[in-house]
Amino acid sequence: MRLLTSKLPQTGTTIFTVMSALAADVGAINLSQGFPDYEIDPHLIELVSQAMKNGHNQYAPMAGLISLREQIGYKTEKLYGAIYNPETEITITAGGTQAIFTAISSIIHPNDEVIIFEPAYDCYAPAIKLMGGVVKSLELAPPDYRIAWDMVRKLISNRTKMIILNSPHNPTATILTKSDVDELSALVKDQDIYILSDEVYEHLVFDGQKHESMARYPELQQRSFIVASFGKLCHATGWKIGYCLAPAHLMQEFRKIHQFVVFSVNTPMQYAIAEYLKNEQVYLGLPAFFQQKRDHFRDGIEQTRFKLLSCHGSYFQSVCYNDITDEKDTDFAIRLAKEFGVATIPTSAFFNKGTDNHILRFCFAKRQETLDKAVDRLIKV
Ligand code: PMP
Repeated sequence: MRLLTSKLPQTGTTIFTVMSALAADVGAINLSQGFPDYEIDPHLIELVSQAMKNGHNQYAPMAGLISLREQIGYKTEKLYGAIYNPETEITITAGGTQAIFTAISSIIHPNDEVIIFEPAYDCYAPAIKLMGGVVKSLELAPPDYRIAWDMVRKLISNRTKMIILNSPHNPTATILTKSDVDELSALVKDQDIYILSDEVYEHLVFDGQKHESMARYPELQQRSFIVASFGKLCHATGWKIGYCLAPAHLMQEFRKIHQFVVFSVNTPMQYAIAEYLKNEQVYLGLPAFFQQKRDHFRDGIEQTRFKLLSCHGSYFQSVCYNDITDEKDTDFAIRLAKEFGVATIPTSAFFNKGTDNHILRFCFAKRQETLDKAVDRLIKV
């Protein structure tokens, strides 16, 4: 056979897989990959079992169970004042990842340009490239990682098709502000630019701050795919279920692809989540739940030589280790796992060029004992 030409020649195994495997190998506390280590709500498990016992085990409708889409519509209107028609503007997906891939596939043609901000979650660039698109990335700088909108303006060309935003942000834990939204609105006004807004951490915003969803702003909402994840909302990342919101003309294109990527998403979990969301506390209580963990972890890190960066949202805490060593972040992360027993993510992994700011990312969606044990080890560094 002729030699296979890779469609993603630069892509290897993701850092999340590498660090989780290393954590397991060396028995390190795994604060690397973003997933909870505590049990999910037993009531939710009961709802899934009930759905299965009630015989909801066959294909769900292509766009998702209507009762779940209605609950999402209700939640979105309540939180952001936006009305999405469950019939035509909400689709249940196999996690945020599939929603992102499908949204990019439905819009990007060869040579279209997509602006992303780095550090960036790892699934954006490969999806753009697979569609023949061109990634235009703008690097943001610590400690604040603010978007320099005048630089974004310079990146825009007549081939710019999409801007990808992520707030709350993984890995930097920053959130978009109203002033960012104003800049964005001014930038895209009268331009044929779509927005992919990765809002999987929408409920994890701290200190009483507001999540600036694209759904709040009609002129942005009209050109946006908004991506959300029940993995985060239900503390169940392994369920791989989420959704996409988009105005009907965009959702129509999204579904053309969605139906051939997964057709539909597993049925019993959709029944369970539709019922579960009727209790608004399950999402309204999330900021306080995670803020307590954030504060506890930050108090612990204060006792170490790591320097805390701000954390406004998401379940990640970044730290700078300049006072400890000048090793590369990947080397230091490996040493930290092997010698001190704590696995983290080196943030250079979120930059195409591997930009190393000597910053590590910890996930604090963990039991208090796990965080305490990790801090005890980090104090020794
Ligand atoms: N976007 C961001 C920023 C994420 O951190 C994640 C999950 N780590 C996803 C998307 C994917 O979400 P899901 O697990 O629902 O596919």
